[in-house]
Amino acid sequence: MKVIKIDKKHWAGGIEKSRSAYRLFGPVMVENKDFSDFEELNAGEMPDMTATDTRTSPKSICFPPEEVMMEYSTDETRDDCNLMRVPVKDYSPRAVIGIRPYDAAAYLIVKKNFDTPEYRDPYWCDAYAACTFIGLAVNEPSRLDFSTSTNSGPFDESGLDVLLVDMGGHYFAKVITEKGAAYLKAAGWEEAAGDGAEQQIEELKVKAERMIQTTISFDRIKEKSIMELHGADFWDDAAFACINCGTCTYVCPTCWCFDIQDETKGKSGVRIKAWDSCMYPLFTIHTTGHNPRETKVHRVRQRFMHKLKYYMDKYEDGIMCVGCGRCVRSCPVNIDIRRVCQSMNG
Ligand code: SF4
Ligand code: SF4
Repeated sequence: MKVIKIDKKHWAGGIEKSRSAYRLFGPVMVENKDFSDFEELNAGEMPDMTATDTRTSPKSICFPPEEVMMEYSTDETRDDCNLMRVPVKDYSPRAVIGIRPYDAAAYLIVKKNFDTPEYRDPYWCDAYAACTFIGLAVNEPSRLDFSTSTNSGPFDESGLDVLLVDMGGHYFAKVITEKGAAYLKAAGWEEAAGDGAEQQIEELKVKAERMIQTTISFDRIKEKSIMELHGADFWDDAAFACINCGTCTYVCPTCWCFDIQDETKGKSGVRIKAWDSCMYPLFTIHTTGHNPRETKVHRVRQRFMHKLKYYMDKYEDGIMCVGCGRCVRSCPVNIDIRRVCQSMNG
């Protein structure tokens, strides 16, 4: 596999050069806050390549918290009265720079939901097709990272087009796809790395994987029946402290649930796709007033059963989690998916 060497002296110039062909996204420090998040980079703005973990995941680049799906008007003087129109969208090429490998792998999980033989979400799929993922390997995983347990890892290439590895004064850029090669060319980074680059990357990968402090096991969940897990006696304890704030679902790169709402003002309106959460009581309430997930125990059980059992049974491809640790870090009452997984597997 081809490896390009990018001297950090040429980093900013290359990023700027690539702007002529790509919209750029990357981690940036949020103003007056002590965290970074993925945003579109303004002219002259550089991705913060030192950001170890963004507060929320980069799923919002293809799946915004709120997105207008359609517009309409009930004004009878208009030719398009009562017709739904899809607004003009910008699906020109996007480069997502500095995405962490497990967050890119999460896109492959989400793709299973939004891009299926039966149903295709055009908003997500068209945005995803426009993206080139220029990932940054995690040389020093955080203490909450358990990505090596989830078929991913700090150097996982599965969802990436390029894997960047920080070597101090330069980056090595491992070219994974044609899309990745095209981005590097657009940035003007074409100097081949010398012999031994792949070996150096491999050594850093092994070192980073060894630094990961926690693991999870889910090998026995598959053989358990849904009813056995559903009726297990640990759910009351697992859910006891939960305040159903939904934070865990909003920060998660693999949570894909959304709601569709119409907002009308006068004679015009929009149909919006907006993030939703299985942790909210309104998520499953019926128009009759009946709610099949009436209590927080029902909702907490649903979240973990979906991630660790239903997904596994349906797709036979591991669990719906890449081990980024965000939900563990952000939960205000310290509910930890690793502990719940242990209970389900035990
Ligand atoms: S972040 Fe914690 S408290 Fe909030 S909904 Fe998730 S598990 Fe419950
Ligand atoms: S469930 Fe938690 S650890 Fe797993 S991918 Fe989502 S936020 Fe990350």
